[in-house]
Amino acid sequence: MDKIEHIGIAVKNLEESNRLFEKLLGVAHYKIEEVLSEHVKTSFFQVGPNKIELLEATSEKSAIAKYLDRKGEGIHHIAFAVEDIKAEMERLKTAGFRLLNDEPKKGADNKLVCFIHPKSANGVLVELCQDIDKQLSQ
Ligand code: ZN
Repeated sequence: MDKIEHIGIAVKNLEESNRLFEKLLGVAHYKIEEVLSEHVKTSFFQVGPNKIELLEATSEKSAIAKYLDRKGEGIHHIAFAVEDIKAEMERLKTAGFRLLNDEPKKGADNKLVCFIHPKSANGVLVELCQDIDKQLSQ
């Protein structure tokens, strides 16, 4: 794993939280993106070299809706940048981690992503993400 790519935060109301985080971080979000397959709407903030992703559920089916019900708002996942997501998924599977998807899927912000079950990582939901551009240029 290369570095922390972003930290994901579950919020109830993306618009309100965008204003709050703009005040907190001193910068406005640089994009809003809906991920239909995940039933979430996301926004991204760039803070120096780091990124913060806010996630709002767009339907009750969303994992974010379930998370908010159980735990309320807060840090939802930590995403790590990887060069080769398939190789990294293979490595983690072999090491005994439970992956939430067998194949990389298209996530927000032009990434291929895979999640690791929090039960196999001390309660932390870990996301792997690889730039799609990088994959295409290989
Ligand atoms: Zn994320």
